[in-house]
Amino acid sequence: MQNGERKKVFAANWKMNLTADEAEDFVKKLLKIRIPEETQIMVFPPSLYLIALAKIAKGRPIALGAQNMYWERAGAFTGEISAPMIKDAGAEYVICGHSERRHIFGESSEMVTRKARAAQIEGVIPLVCIGETLEERQAGETLEVLQSDTLSSLAAVDADPDIIIAYEPVWAIGTGLTATPQDAESAIAYIRSQIKEIWGKTAERIRILYGGSVRADNIDELMRCPNIDGALIGGASLNLESFLEIVTNGTNI
Ligand code: PEP
Repeated sequence: MQNGERKKVFAANWKMNLTADEAEDFVKKLLKIRIPEETQIMVFPPSLYLIALAKIAKGRPIALGAQNMYWERAGAFTGEISAPMIKDAGAEYVICGHSERRHIFGESSEMVTRKARAAQIEGVIPLVCIGETLEERQAGETLEVLQSDTLSSLAAVDADPDIIIAYEPVWAIGTGLTATPQDAESAIAYIRSQIKEIWGKTAERIRILYGGSVRADNIDELMRCPNIDGALIGGASLNLESFLEIVTNGTNI
């Protein structure tokens, strides 16, 4: 299966940014844009905004997701949200193991796979992030890290073609540095080969995104790569115009 047969994904990760009014305004304006058939748009706002945004986007071709969750369904876990709550809010996706969760908040792949499994059980689709640090890349350990992150982050998860993976080299996130299309393609092809080891043919249907300083001027070369199925976009997704420019340039290739 070539990437032309996998629906492209452009996912906005707003992190801890925007006010509630700004978030609503963004989604309302986004809904006025014609989204190409072969493209899927996802928005990951701060969780507090999910209920309001889900009401605005209900029945429309924009999917919403949470940026994080805890694996328990309910209980004494102050500050956390669960997969049933995400679903109840009207969201369909959840990011598991974003590099900021792994590196600022100490999440391990073992925690990531528990989260992804808990989401899967509730019918919330996990978007699982993996990627090497600069030190690991410089030490020539990129493939080793990608293998171990992929296998351990998916260890508890059932094979499912709807699950999304994002390859996000840690050194490229929010730094203005982007992996070359060649490096991104070879890392993503390698991740796909690892998924194939555990999930067989399903691996060909999994969308694997690139993330790390994606902009309107670098998306088209990334999207020409046969294994890259879209992008997870942080900084450049906070502004509607720049996000839409990325979607347009990444779709018309
Ligand atoms: C991200 O948050 O996943 C990300 C890739 O951020 P940025 O686009 O700002 O590098």
